[in-house]
Amino acid sequence: MQSLRDLIDSFNLYAVCEACQRQTKLNVQKLIKHLGAETQVHRMRSKLRCRVCGTRTEDLRIVYVGQKDQEAIFQYRR
Ligand SMILES: [Zn+2]
Repeated sequence: MQSLRDLIDSFNLYAVCEACQRQTKLNVQKLIKHLGAETQVHRMRSKLRCRVCGTRTEDLRIVYVGQKDQEAIFQYRR
């Protein structure tokens, strides 16, 4: 189970609307502020609604974007 806290460093969270194929990047920091860092990601699904067509969507996409800090340390040591 992933909580919002697990996502903040290395992942982007997208909501995907099947009706209009829109993909919206969610602001994880904002979600943590409103819902709390321990909120389980799968619990978000029932809260999502497409802003464009108003359809409820349960399709969440989690995209790994890597850790910036680790990359910097790696380059430094090389
Ligand atoms: Zn839509």
